Amino acid sequence: MKTPVCQIAIETPLRRLFDYHPVPGAVPGARVRVPFGRQHLVGIVVSHMSHSDVPAEKLRSIEAVLDPAPLFSAADLKLLQWAAEYYHHPVGEVFATALPRLLRQGRDVAPVRRSWRITDAGRAALAQGALQRAHRQQQLLGHIATTGECDESALEAAVPGWRPLARALRDKSLLEFHEQSLTAAASGGTQPVETGPVLTGAQLAAVETLTAPGLAGAFLLDGVTGSGKTEVYLRAAGAVLARGGAVLVMCPEIGLTPQLLERFEKRFEVPIAALHSGLTDGARARAWHLAATGGARIVVGTRSAVFTPIPDLGLIIVDEEHDASYKQQEGGFRYSARDLALLRAQQRGVPVVLGSATPSLESLHNVTLGRLTHIELPERAGSATPPRIALIDMRAHPVNKGIATPLRHAIQRHLDAGAQVLLFINRRGYAPTLLCQSCGWVAPCNSCDARLTVHLARGARASGALACHHCGAEAARPERCPRCGYELHPLGHGTERVEETLAEFFPGHAVERFDRDSLRAPQQLHAAIDRVHSGSARILVGTQMLTKGHHFPDVTLVGVLNADQSLFSTDFRAAERLAQTIVQVAGRAGRADRPGEVLIQSQYPDHPLLKTLLDSGYAGFAADALQEREAARWPPFSRLALLRASDTQPEVALKFLRAARQLATPAAGVALLGPVPAAMVRRADRYYAQLMVESSQRTRLQAFLAGWVPAVEQLEKPRSLRWVLDVDPLEVL
Ligand code: ADP
Ligand code: ZN
Repeated sequence: MKTPVCQIAIETPLRRLFDYHPVPGAVPGARVRVPFGRQHLVGIVVSHMSHSDVPAEKLRSIEAVLDPAPLFSAADLKLLQWAAEYYHHPVGEVFATALPRLLRQGRDVAPVRRSWRITDAGRAALAQGALQRAHRQQQLLGHIATTGECDESALEAAVPGWRPLARALRDKSLLEFHEQSLTAAASGGTQPVETGPVLTGAQLAAVETLTAPGLAGAFLLDGVTGSGKTEVYLRAAGAVLARGGAVLVMCPEIGLTPQLLERFEKRFEVPIAALHSGLTDGARARAWHLAATGGARIVVGTRSAVFTPIPDLGLIIVDEEHDASYKQQEGGFRYSARDLALLRAQQRGVPVVLGSATPSLESLHNVTLGRLTHIELPERAGSATPPRIALIDMRAHPVNKGIATPLRHAIQRHLDAGAQVLLFINRRGYAPTLLCQSCGWVAPCNSCDARLTVHLARGARASGALACHHCGAEAARPERCPRCGYELHPLGHGTERVEETLAEFFPGHAVERFDRDSLRAPQQLHAAIDRVHSGSARILVGTQMLTKGHHFPDVTLVGVLNADQSLFSTDFRAAERLAQTIVQVAGRAGRADRPGEVLIQSQYPDHPLLKTLLDSGYAGFAADALQEREAARWPPFSRLALLRASDTQPEVALKFLRAARQLATPAAGVALLGPVPAAMVRRADRYYAQLMVESSQRTRLQAFLAGWVPAVEQLEKPRSLRWVLDVDPLEVL
């Protein structure tokens, strides 16, 4: 006799769903509590089957249904199952990625908005300076006083660690707490609050394409920096909202969420859910729930937001689609949120817009194949003109502390004209190396095949410290060379050293440093951005952080201090990344009325990449780079997967990968390459190696992996060994 069963996704490393006796209410997409071994776990019902391979007497029953209505729709479940299959990752862990922690723990989410308000007593206390001894409480109270009523999720971003302070203030009756039902709050209209500018011709054409009735398909919005892509997103979103649809807006990282969020909030008076890694568990669960129950009409989020259920989804926007942050590069489930966004849109029959000034070569290739419709915004919006870009030959000019004379003069000129200057250097810390000039000793990391970076005074270490940028290890900075006793000197330049040099060269012009060390918390970044906007900061120096999306209208000069590092990298994507970085950072110059200038320092000004980029722009570079990829059969002209392994002992990972290779059944059109040791073999006391699988066809690669990965899983291996499969890896070093 056939027994009907429920198939349930449970967070375990096992690559399968689990069968249980159904109970009423256990509908696909709902959370349930089930016995699992000796534990009781939360799972998600994926499907109902009329028959199970498990004998009926061994089937256990669902203990409780946790959701009155399914959290995931059939389409959401399909997307998650597809992702598990495509990335060859255990389905239960994939589902876990899609669900906020509190919901995973089986908790209920009250659909309420929690906010804090200052009381009259609070205002009086502020005015009288009554809290001067409780500095942080005063700061929090001041913050809430300026914003009026403050949402908990916003507080989290603005004043980390605010909760105990808020409680103390409430006990003194200086703050009060409000809860509002979100279904009640979700009553805003869809009339634009702030109307946008008059569109340029190109924007208008883009908006017409993207607001056509019944639109579906995938689009590449390829617009130079400052061309007004965000304005196009807003118009396209507006059309969807007006029809009663909801919009998913993806952005690459938490640092950029506030800007994008603000522009949507100013434009639309509808409930918006923001989902990023900076939220507390509670705030995250509430925002997710608001999206999943249809309360939010706009969902703005980073990578994992691609899995958030959104009823009535009518449009997906992926801003800065080329950004590497869309690919999960740590842990086991290495998905690409951009690729999944394309799939999700296709499954739902809704349009998806990938936007970038420097589209990935994958996306440009997809345009050629007709999978993406190309929409171009070739000119800057408003009165801004494209910046003038030039190379500075570092061999031909005197260079003082990493800054060549022409750049130094240009900085002075722009500062004298009352403008701001931005300098990009791709390295944080003071100097990448601590060197003994007598015997050549360099300070090494004890856990990695890497040198330690010199940092200036930091926290408790007033004399400065050494830090490993690969494993995070820190060490005191030795006074003298441990080998020969001679003096040690920092070699090379990082952001901290450039900051010091600029203070010396341009006294009286405040320098603002943007890197992960100076801006650890989101509110530090906001404060720094505020100082740039208010004009109190005159020179900006920073890493990658400065290249992304920011709009600083008074910056007229951008200097790239060292473009050379990645010119000779062996990673097949290094050239693409470098070109994107240069074009993006150059795009920060002259975004308002005054024209911009970009100066790139290089020891290799004749390098073909730099020449092409300057002569024919990103499009010219991309055309060349695609030809090279095709000749070398790299993606997008082939498909890759990397089996990566590591162990605490040398050679063990390599041995495991050799055994994995042995297991492979030869398949037509699929090649295995390696295994080889990783470019940096030892990292955080583990030894890394990798085996590459290559095919010209995705379906062949997938068919091969489907047979091979479960066999690899069965291989005998030491407990210390870790392995992971990375499908469509971004880096292959
Ligand atoms: P992108 O995202 O392409 O870099 P943004 O959308 O941030 O560009 O636009 C750059 C600047 O130009 C913003 O200050 C924006 O308000 C402004 N802008 C956009 N479209 C127009 C327009 N049609 N007319 C005038 N200004 C515009
Ligand atoms: Zn290290």
